[in-house]
Amino acid sequence: MNDEWGLSTRSIHVGWQPDPATGAVKRPLVMANSYVLPPDGDWDAVPFGYARDLNPNARWLEERLQALEGGEDCVVTASGVSAINGTFMALLSSGDHIICSDISYVSVRTMLLEHFPKRFGIETTLLDTSDVAAVAAAIRPNTKIIHVETPGNPTTRISDLAAIAEIAHAHGALLTVDSTWSGLTTQHPFVLGADIVMHSISKYINGHGDALGGAVFGPKALMDVVRLFVVKDMGACISPFNAWQVMRGVATLELRMARHNENAMRVAEYLEAHPKVAFVRYPGLKSHPNHAVAVRQMHGFSSMLNFDLVDQSKRAEFIAHLKVFVHAVSLGHDESLIFVYTDATTGESFYRVSIGIENVEDLIADLAQALALC
Ligand SMILES: *Cc1c(COP(=O)(O)O)cnc(C)c1O
Repeated sequence: MNDEWGLSTRSIHVGWQPDPATGAVKRPLVMANSYVLPPDGDWDAVPFGYARDLNPNARWLEERLQALEGGEDCVVTASGVSAINGTFMALLSSGDHIICSDISYVSVRTMLLEHFPKRFGIETTLLDTSDVAAVAAAIRPNTKIIHVETPGNPTTRISDLAAIAEIAHAHGALLTVDSTWSGLTTQHPFVLGADIVMHSISKYINGHGDALGGAVFGPKALMDVVRLFVVKDMGACISPFNAWQVMRGVATLELRMARHNENAMRVAEYLEAHPKVAFVRYPGLKSHPNHAVAVRQMHGFSSMLNFDLVDQSKRAEFIAHLKVFVHAVSLGHDESLIFVYTDATTGESFYRVSIGIENVEDLIADLAQALALC
């Protein structure tokens, strides 16, 4: 790879070469479960042995993603959840302590609230990681990992990665960052001091809502441990087909993210000025509680936002009137997505919206006509 290549060039050319067997200018989809071993049976002498451990499509994708996010190596997994919870299980043992954002992906929160403390003897503290002093105060002698999701799902909370990296490193702990909602292009956690970065590549990185996968990035020695535990021993491998899909999707990541950022800013400003809208939470708005940190550590604010109607009794009616927005969960797709998120613990609820890459005039017109009818 040419180190001076820009992000789009890397996302198109790294992990690529013409197929030696056919001359095809696209990487083939390799659906074999096993690969021929050398006569002496030395698995280490060949790149691939059994497809769960590593398959060509997974490895080509790892090379490409590593060239985009950084870290010494990348491990791709079956899903974002297996990348995150799997990394914790690979690196933590009973008696260890992990600090985590209390606004974080639901399966991560369940793992840390239920399975780790109640079944595996791993101590956990969930707190507001946008409060740096609270993070520092929660450190224990056995704290091994501080895990931050920023922007945080679902409330778009932004946590100060550089400040938390300092706290983690002063105590010999690792800072792990779930950077899924950044879409990779809008923040660079390694530059801010993260030790390990994770993504659900089901979201912006694939970008088309048609493949699940996860990725973990970090030092080679740690990634070797993660690969052995998560992919080989737990079996959370990505299928070659999903890796192939994501390899295609990621080629347009920078282009798509520029549109996502731009559309979301325009929609957030439109909604914030509308009399029927009670509030909008979007890191790019001055009204966002963590706007100053977002401006400091992000380059563009990605495309996740929350809002609600003044008249909450009209929530379902509003959704029924939408013609462009799709009523579904998930995010980072080409199409804009909306649903009512209800927090299981606080009972708080609001619209969680993923702004897609449609023409923004059509998104705003769609919101306008649905609001007018409510
Ligand atoms: C979706 C998501 C995950 C989980 O990813 P899957 O690929 O669905 O397993 C983890 N973290 C964040 C922030 C997410 O949005």
